[in-house]
Amino acid sequence: MKKLQNHYNKVLVTGGSGFLGKNLALEEPKWKYLSSKDCDLTTYEDVLKTFEQYKPDAIIHLAARVGGIKDNVEKQADFYYLNSLINLNVLQAAHNLNINRVLSCLSTCAFPDTIKNYPFNEGDLFSGKPAVSNLSYGMTKRMLKIASDSYRTQYNRNYSTFCPSNIYGPFDHFNNENSHFIPAMISKIDPAQGGDTIEFWGTGKPLRQHLYVKDLAKIIPVLLNKHNSAVPIIVAPDENISINDAVQTFIKLVKKDIKVCYNNKLDGQYRKDGSNKMLKTIIKKFKFTSLDDGLKETYEWYRNENSIC
Ligand code: NAP
Repeated sequence: MKKLQNHYNKVLVTGGSGFLGKNLALEEPKWKYLSSKDCDLTTYEDVLKTFEQYKPDAIIHLAARVGGIKDNVEKQADFYYLNSLINLNVLQAAHNLNINRVLSCLSTCAFPDTIKNYPFNEGDLFSGKPAVSNLSYGMTKRMLKIASDSYRTQYNRNYSTFCPSNIYGPFDHFNNENSHFIPAMISKIDPAQGGDTIEFWGTGKPLRQHLYVKDLAKIIPVLLNKHNSAVPIIVAPDENISINDAVQTFIKLVKKDIKVCYNNKLDGQYRKDGSNKMLKTIIKKFKFTSLDDGLKETYEWYRNENSIC
């Protein structure tokens, strides 16, 4: 994809030290990337002071309390409180400082748990409750969309949003209790020996659109420049594959003679595939990385990072 001329001179990214932020920084190294050490986004005065200091003409808002399914289920109050505060503060401080452009990151987790027709599209966001396993997180993402729309309507601000599906790739959170599925899978299978049986959560049946983080890092700058509407653009690849198929793809890649079993606990949402039709009206010919290729690159990164030869 050809790189666009940026409309904005000073772009500030919240959540810049996170998994997605680190990948975006490789794509757009001139932007300013914030971590919670630079500014606690749950404190309005801190946010205002930091935005005032950097004087950006656009903000990409990625910061959030994020976690895996277990974390989401067990800490609903933390997810609700922290994400609500962060989102309220970022938009209100940007508005008060007359920063006219904020592009905020939602998630396809905010879409209804079940819906009549798949893939869902942007108009389906409010047509049912998010899955109970990420109800708080999902609802705060919905409110971030409503908040962005409200500043657009009342003050004519270009505050818009996008919804990525499950992201994976370099800099993801591996080897920890809160890992998402792909990094958890990689760190479980990597040390396994021939003949081992590896246990995974759930049934292996849920379907997911695994979005390679480097694809999203290329898409965000385009959305920053071109997405000026209240539509919460879905960013998801065409592939929608079962957890078990993803596991089998990875086992084939690492060429190990191992078996897998499922513990039938905490499956999460059965499917949440979203349509990328609207995205493709903004970015005409984007070619998403296949899960095969994305896993290859991610695994290579993981092995290097952990110095595994
Ligand atoms: P992450 O790795 O957990 O990073 C979270 C970022 O938010 C970090 O930079 C963190 O700063 C910052 N942050 C959290 N609380 C903060 C606070 N109180 N003040 C200031 N900064 C704070 O998350 P991620 O996976 O990169 O997610 C980025 C965005 O993508 C989020 O909006 C998430 O909802 C969305 N998303 C993620 C996925 C996925 O599969 N990962 C899927 C769909 C959407 P520190 O590093 O200093 O803690």
